[in-house]
Amino acid sequence: MTVTADLVPYEDALASYDPVMGLEVHVELGTRTKMFCGCSAAQGAEPNAQTCPTCLGLPGALPVVNAIGVESAIRIGLALNCSIAEWCRFARKNYFYPDMPKNFQTSQYDEPIAYDGYLDVQLEDGSVFRVEIERAHMEEDTGKSLHIGGATGRIHGASHSLLDYNRAGIPLIEIVTKPIEGAGERAPEVARAYVAELREVIRSLGVSEARMDKGQMRCDVNLSLRPNGTKPLGTRSETKNVNSLRSVERAARYEIQRHAAVLSSGGTIVQETRHFHEEDGSTTSGRIKDNAEDYRYFPEPDLVPVAPPKEWVEQLRGELPELPLARRNRLREEWGVGAHEMQSMLNAGALDPIVATIDAGAPADQARKWWMGELARNANESGRALDELPITPAQVARVTALVAAGDLNDKLARQVIDGVLAGEGDPDTVVEKRGLKVVSDEGALGTAVDEAIAGNAAIADKIRAGKVAAAGALVGAVMKATRGQADAARVKQLILEKLGVSE
Ligand SMILES: [Zn+2]
Repeated sequence: MTVTADLVPYEDALASYDPVMGLEVHVELGTRTKMFCGCSAAQGAEPNAQTCPTCLGLPGALPVVNAIGVESAIRIGLALNCSIAEWCRFARKNYFYPDMPKNFQTSQYDEPIAYDGYLDVQLEDGSVFRVEIERAHMEEDTGKSLHIGGATGRIHGASHSLLDYNRAGIPLIEIVTKPIEGAGERAPEVARAYVAELREVIRSLGVSEARMDKGQMRCDVNLSLRPNGTKPLGTRSETKNVNSLRSVERAARYEIQRHAAVLSSGGTIVQETRHFHEEDGSTTSGRIKDNAEDYRYFPEPDLVPVAPPKEWVEQLRGELPELPLARRNRLREEWGVGAHEMQSMLNAGALDPIVATIDAGAPADQARKWWMGELARNANESGRALDELPITPAQVARVTALVAAGDLNDKLARQVIDGVLAGEGDPDTVVEKRGLKVVSDEGALGTAVDEAIAGNAAIADKIRAGKVAAAGALVGAVMKATRGQADAARVKQLILEKLGVSE
């Protein structure tokens, strides 16, 4: 049960105050090993099975930097239009936390590997908002505390806690924006769009799956308000570890309303971390935020500085893939679709399956139709993501080919897709097993049409008298008789021919 603070209606808050945000996103890299030791970074192992003296912080253990971790950080920095440091160091961020066995986190402080960049994000209406990037730096994840005995899994009410250090030392890249100003009432939308675009960038680089639901990407939402028309920044709150796009948007919106309530009643905002609650979209107080100086940062003496050669950085720059926004703009042009439709495909997670289906030979409009229609509906109903459905882009392409060849109509194609999803085999096997074929045998079709005309004499007369629209009822009768396995357009043609009417 969370206690909800007084809130000012959103529109009222914006009428008086200007929101300024800062977003800090942690991305867990998908490296094979940890950042400073050779332990496996894979998820899902038995607790504490993937640890060694280095990531447990035992005396005398010496860390070594993961080269792929550095390379991934540089590639992320380049994709975010950052400058790459020619020389930088790791630092120790000193604080005690039970899930951090070294009592310091190896991070970067005043010498990040990447700095001064930007990411353009597209909003729902198609406009582009530029988010300036302060820095992207390398660090390591902490372990995990499991609080046992309480109702909520939080430490409050727990009888004891267990510690799992498998995650301790997994490479993280922390990406920090500069203050995001000028978004006004769209601040929550900008926050969401930024995290969404950043996730796309990370995925396009192949450095992480960036699954927020698996904790591979988490966002801290810093927010402050200042009276409209003023410059100095207000005191900020920091909502920690928000783990879905929707929650990022809700957290920003909630904090705008909460800050406005505090400020407009003459109160002061406490600089603190806050927890976000999925159930009702609220935030509650966490801990009073430490200042950077409290961490007693100092350069890490056990690691050599990182000095990436210029030629290497330029090589990595040359090897960057086409970035997501540019790719979406190109596809929009190629497919002739609007910003909104593209956004829907992106939100549905349909973009990559659609492209793969086109690559497998399907026409673009057909690929879009099936993934955004039948398959999206199925995914929705079964609570799965599109890429978790047991059907491949090649199989969808095969279905579109059968439709194009006239072997299937849309109705039959849906049944074929149902069959594939039900595990009955690939499209041709399902067609075979279920006997799904358009009746293209003109003789059989002609007989079915004759029977429909004979059985619906009154309607047939109407059509003969020129009421062509009435043909729909006869088409329906034929489709029923052929169990949907006829080409409806051809059936209508035949009916009109036999009744001597032209359309
Ligand atoms: Zn280790």
